[in-house]
Amino acid sequence: MSCIFCAIVAGEGPAEIVDSDEHTVAFMDINPATPGHALVIPRNHSRDLLEIGDDDLAHTIAAARRLARRMGEALEPDGFNVLNSCGTAAWQSVFHFHLHVVPRWETDPLELPWVPSPGDPEEIAATASKIREAEPKAKPTRADVEAPDSGEG
Ligand code: AMP
Ligand code: ZN
Repeated sequence: MSCIFCAIVAGEGPAEIVDSDEHTVAFMDINPATPGHALVIPRNHSRDLLEIGDDDLAHTIAAARRLARRMGEALEPDGFNVLNSCGTAAWQSVFHFHLHVVPRWETDPLELPWVPSPGDPEEIAATASKIREAEPKAKPTRADVEAPDSGEG
């Protein structure tokens, strides 16, 4: 099996599973950003946000919130980040859709990965109009084109 997350779903890869249901599995990230950092995945293989079906996406985000609530009870964090990376340019490294659920504390060392500064309003408006006029197609990301196939289960 070439996809490491499909292997976890199949019970063939080691994982600290913390939650699961008919459609999803949640397990601890082996490179945690903060203590508790976990991943939620659909049992069905899809590469990324552009490819995943609406139902699997809905089940996965619902499971991410359930996990956040569990972590809220267990770890008492001050907040959460729920993150998804889509494409290598956006830091995706495992090509089976997943949501990171990262518990956050006021005192933790994580930093916002961009420096907020006001954009040019005309440029923002021009980009907004380009987005509005585009069709919402599931065009492959560069990762889809360039990354080796991560398998389908
Ligand atoms: P991303 O870079 O957004 O695709 O996230 C992939 C995440 O999967 C990274 O945070 C890795 O640390 C994590 N990861 C990779 N392999 C495993 C594994 N076998 N078990 C748990 N987490 C993993
Ligand atoms: Zn997979």
